[in-house]
Formats: sequence, structure tokens, C-alpha cells
Amino acid sequence: MTARRRTVLITGTSSGIGLATAVTAAGAGFTVVATLRDPDGAHALREAADEAGVTLDVRRLDVTDEESVATCLKGVRETYGRLDAVVNNAGISNFDPTMEMSTTRALRANLEVNFFGVVAVSRAAMPLLRACGGRLLSVGSVHGVVGQPFNEAYAAAKFAVEGFMESLAPVAAEHGVKVCVVVPGFVRDTRFGYFPDINRETIRAASGPYARTFTDYLDWVVGHGWGGASQTRWEVAEVVVRALTAEDPPFRVPTSDRVAEYLARKLADTDGSAIQALARTWIAGAEGAERGVGPA
Ligand code: NAP
Repeated sequence: MTARRRTVLITGTSSGIGLATAVTAAGAGFTVVATLRDPDGAHALREAADEAGVTLDVRRLDVTDEESVATCLKGVRETYGRLDAVVNNAGISNFDPTMEMSTTRALRANLEVNFFGVVAVSRAAMPLLRACGGRLLSVGSVHGVVGQPFNEAYAAAKFAVEGFMESLAPVAAEHGVKVCVVVPGFVRDTRFGYFPDINRETIRAASGPYARTFTDYLDWVVGHGWGGASQTRWEVAEVVVRALTAEDPPFRVPTSDRVAEYLARKLADTDGSAIQALARTWIAGAEGAERGVGPA
């Protein structure tokens, strides 16, 4: 896909990876529909666009509000008559030392944005994407492949995104739409995971029987974690835009070698091409179908 005059809709562009992707995609020649929950909160986005000398079409879209999703997609169809790509980027973190008490509530809140938000936008956009052989991309996470202590709700939601996207990909491909998940590790210059009211003492007080394990976990995060292997939002945005413009991107796109190595500990099939090739045989009719290895 060449970037020139192609239209991409990106969710969650008020900050972080979404903001950087909107500006980078516009710089690469895309017409960018940069969406956010509250267009009044677009100061940083507009500033970054001005600095880069690019123009964005800023529109409201709350991924948890299906009416706002439908209204935005309708507006895009009316203005451009087409949509070549969607980047499901909007997301929230979770940080929950009190998992016994609030797991269900935390899970629902997190899945609402991180999973159902992806589903709502993808479903609404698919007719437009099918019409022009477009591309559907979600920003996943290493925690969508490898679970992370004290991030149960977030990991569950991101695992759900991987399952949704991986299941959709072979069918979408048969109908001309390429589907992929870009997988960052730790991205240091976003608002993600910024909890100004939380510190070691509040965590200790809230974590009850988990106080020791949570403290050990925090020590590991601070002492080791992703440390020097973290990336910037601009580095991740470059990877997203490459996945939007590559002729034939793989299903799963790790944003760095370090991320790929981490995923490989869990997945022999790091970029997802073996599973994609296998699943394609299940919907390709009798010819070429790989017998006896279907889903259990
Ligand atoms: P961020 O700076 O907090 O950006 C998240 C964006 O999502 C914000 O613009 C936020 O907008 C938006 N958002 C939240 N709820 C929304 C909703 N209901 N509807 C529409 N937009 C909504 O964090 P980020 O790091 O750039 O995160 C972007 C994506 O990267 C997320 O999917 C995250 O899971 C993923 N990721 C991040 C990291 C990391 O280390 N930072 C690592 C792996 C994956 P508001 O201003 O309206 O809140």
C-alpha cells in the first residue's frame, strides 16, 4: 500500500503512541483522521502536528460509545468516500494490588476499552476497509502474549485482542483486508501507567496479603523490567506506519528485536505467519485444507 492519498483512522490520539502515529502517518503521506474522546483535549496533538508541518483531521470518537464510533465512521465515509486503514490504538492500563476485591470490576473496565473498543471500531470500519482492500491494525502489547504479574485485567484484555485479531485475520484476508497486531514492549514517553497518586506506601496499604509480592515486583520493575530496552512512542509509530505501508506485513509485528526475543520465549511462531498459513487452509475449501489439525 503506498501512503499517498490513503486515509487512515487512528483511535486515542490525544497522547502517546496514538499522537506520534497520527503525526508520523501524516508525514508519510496519509490523510489522517486523528480521533479522540474529547477534541478539546487535542492541544498536544495539534502542537505536534504544527511542529511537524502536517495537517490532521481531528474528530471525536470514544471507543466505548458505539454511537460515537458509528457517527465518526459515517462522517469519514461522507468526507472521503473511503477508508484505507484503521489503527486501534486507544487503551488504558491497570494497576491493581487488591486483586481479590476488585478483579471483576477491573477486568470489565479494562476489557471495555482495550477489547470491546477494538471490536466496536473494527466492526464499524470493516465494510469501508473491505471496499478498498484496506488494512486493520491494532496496537497490542507483549502482555497480550506473555502474562504479567499484577496486570491481570490488562493482560486478559490484550490476550483477547490477539485472539480476536488472529481469528479475524484469515477471513478478512480472503476478503481483501490485511489484519495485523503491532506489539510494543515498554514505551517510556506516554501517559500510560502514570499514576500520580500511587506510591509504595499506598500500594503497601492496599495490597494486603500481596504486599510482599507486590513490593518484590516493583523492585524488579525498577531494577530490571524493560530498563534500557524501552522505546519511544516515535520509534513505535515508525513501526506502525511501516506495517501500514508494507506490501505484505506479517500478522504480528514486534516493535524491536528485544520484543521479538521476549515473545519467542512463548511463541515459536513469532510473527504469526505459520498459524495464519494454517488457518487459511481451513477456509480455502477442500483443496489445500490441512486435515486433522483443525481447532479442538
Ligand atoms: P497513553 O499516552 O495513555 O495513550 C492512550 C490513549 O488512549 C489516550 O489518547 C487516551 O485518551 C486514549 N483513550 C483511553 N480511553 C479511550 C476511549 N474510551 N476512547 C478513545 N480513546 C481512549 O498511552 P500509550 O502508551 O500511548 O498507549 C497506546 C496504546 O499502546 C494502548 O493500546 C496501550 O495498551 C499500548 N501499549 C502501550 C505500552 C507502553 O508501555 N506505553 C506498551 C505496550 C502497548 P484520553 O486522553 O481521552 O484519555
